[in-house]
Amino acid sequence: MQAQSYFQLLNPLVFLLFAIGFLSLFAANRGMKAAAWIGASYAFGATAFLIDFLRDSFSLIFVSVVTNVFYTITAVTFAAGIAMRYRQHAPWNALLLAAVLNLSAFAFFLFVRDDMWLRAFAVNLGNGLILTIGLLAIRSHMHRAIEKVIFGVYVVMCLQFIVRPVMVFLLDDTPFTIDTYNDSIFFIALHLSVGVIAVTMAMTLFVSFSIQIIEDLGERSITDSLSGMLNRRGFEEAAARTFLLADETGEAACLVLADIDHFKLVNDNYGHGFGDVVIARTGSLFRGYANGGRSAGRIGGEEFVLLMPATRLEDGRLFAEAIRRKFSAYKFHTDQGALTFSASFGVAERRPGETLTELLSRADEALYFSKENGRDRVSDETDLDKTDPSKALDALERRHHRGLNAPVIASGNG
Ligand code: GH3
Ligand code: MG
Ligand code: MG
Repeated sequence: MQAQSYFQLLNPLVFLLFAIGFLSLFAANRGMKAAAWIGASYAFGATAFLIDFLRDSFSLIFVSVVTNVFYTITAVTFAAGIAMRYRQHAPWNALLLAAVLNLSAFAFFLFVRDDMWLRAFAVNLGNGLILTIGLLAIRSHMHRAIEKVIFGVYVVMCLQFIVRPVMVFLLDDTPFTIDTYNDSIFFIALHLSVGVIAVTMAMTLFVSFSIQIIEDLGERSITDSLSGMLNRRGFEEAAARTFLLADETGEAACLVLADIDHFKLVNDNYGHGFGDVVIARTGSLFRGYANGGRSAGRIGGEEFVLLMPATRLEDGRLFAEAIRRKFSAYKFHTDQGALTFSASFGVAERRPGETLTELLSRADEALYFSKENGRDRVSDETDLDKTDPSKALDALERRHHRGLNAPVIASGNG
């Protein structure tokens, strides 16, 4: 084989490797549909280049038609995949219209007015147009650094479909026919520039997918799957950030702790699955309050917390009261009719430098006070002050059982 032949084999191989890479990514992460489309695009591209490489085994017209159909499908699937990646859905109508236009122009300059140069311009512009539709679809969705790099590579990719054929047309004055196509500068320039851009694009896309996988894993490790809230670890991390800021600004923070009343009975009477439904719905109620810097977490079976930065005790109480009312008004539908439940709340304001363990323990005392005094209510430590100090011993004992004296990593002052 001549050097020229080896060169022609490079693109099908490189495209095939990237197709395998993207499709493997999809196989391992079925949620990443964009990876499947981009992988398919690289596979179609590999096929087109391969047929181009084997052109001597077929009739020239056949090779020309088939490769151009495949190049068009490559562009459509790539633009669709990238649009799905960065804005969830593909502009299918525009893409299919551009594909039909592209192939019609190609057919016209092959069968009606056979002209190599016009045909080459038409398909380059056509594929460039298809890819540009993908570019326009994502243009307002590329915010992070890696996305900006991808966007830049994508712009170059679209531009080369115009710049390259024009440059070759201006610089190359050797005859350009279907028989000399294989050895033409046009052919070499096409392989070289498409190859280099396809590799750069694939690498940057892999980086972008990897970043997403890492972020998803991080997200999963701090999220409670049942309630969609922060889990204990996630809440501890959020609290550490809140406390750090509170220590800097000297502002207070308020913690609301809630525990569903008689939840064992809910499980016993209606089943564990129904209990899970109640927990999930309580979680979404709390999550509704987790904005403006507030963090909501599920830190025990049916225990929920809301941490509010820059909030004093009185306002914390108002929040807790609002959540309590909403929760007790929720109707849960069962075979035995609609049911309502209640929860008890404890609120505590953070003292300067206090750790999460200490703050939680004071909120827990207030919560226990609510439980002791009829449940379905909100208490804070000012309520406790009014009662019998001998109860303090009970609270200590209870905290021990709930493991609240165990060390907690997050704290305001390390
Ligand atoms: P109290 O009013 O004093 O809080 O009574 P209670 O029955 O709610 O008592 P407690 O808080 O000790 O009970 C917690 C129960 O929550 C025990 C456990 O079976 C149940 N639970 C814990 N995690 C889950 C869960 O993920 N799903 C379900 N369905 N139940 C859970
Ligand atoms: Mg309970
Ligand atoms: Mg409990």
